[in-house]
Amino acid sequence: MSRLLHLLVGFLAVAVVGGLLGWGAWGLCHQRDEARQARQAQTPLPPPITTETPISQPEPASPLRGVRILLDPGHSGGLVGATRQVPDGRGGFKDCNNSGTASNAGFPEHTFNWEVATRLKALLEDEGASVDLTRADDVSMGPCVDERGKMASGYDAAVSIHANGTPNPAVKGYFALVSSPALTPAQGEPSQTLARHLLTGLGYAGFSPSTAVAGQISYRADLAGLNFAECPTVMMELGEMRNGEEAALMQTPEGQQRYAEALADGLRRWASER
Ligand SMILES: [Zn+2]
Repeated sequence: MSRLLHLLVGFLAVAVVGGLLGWGAWGLCHQRDEARQARQAQTPLPPPITTETPISQPEPASPLRGVRILLDPGHSGGLVGATRQVPDGRGGFKDCNNSGTASNAGFPEHTFNWEVATRLKALLEDEGASVDLTRADDVSMGPCVDERGKMASGYDAAVSIHANGTPNPAVKGYFALVSSPALTPAQGEPSQTLARHLLTGLGYAGFSPSTAVAGQISYRADLAGLNFAECPTVMMELGEMRNGEEAALMQTPEGQQRYAEALADGLRRWASER
């Protein structure tokens, strides 16, 4: 009997010791697993392999998006009926239109104006602006000056593009013309603000400010294209066609593009602050 009891006690002792050892071994393994998992968590993962192109940052929206702009390429290529008298907007009358000035080499202002206006239209439309021109081509008569002034309504801005023809070849540089005294609310400060931004654009592009017009803004009562305007409207004389340096620039596509880009920059500045 005592032998049986002895065996039983021995069995129980083995079971207890074995259980403790097993528990300890499991605990050790468990601790090792935790340590391995911790090491794995600290090991940086390799970068994922991807064949997709990187996501580029979207361009910020242009301030010109949705802006409605009227561009007037000054004068006309055709002159049928050009001397017909039309109202000037202040009780007087003037010719329907003319071909403008020309460089000493005979390059006509109306063509320079057309080239700059069409280039500017493309630049503005690229940035989401809605742009209309006052005339359809550079060969027909196009609307008279009073009609062009009346077109400047329902737009956010209107710009009439010109080059000047001061006979003195030493005179050079750009300037703006605005209607004064203002006949509509838009002809006052809104048009002067537009003028200042366009002048800034030309200055930043490296063109010369006018040596003849103080402050580069000419206040005029006699221009029908400005007197009928209901939206902010400016006439820009981009330079002097009798000045050899400026005429050379105006006659080349590269020069015309530079003028267009300067005006687009001015309109962008104006649109971002309005
Ligand atoms: Zn002109």
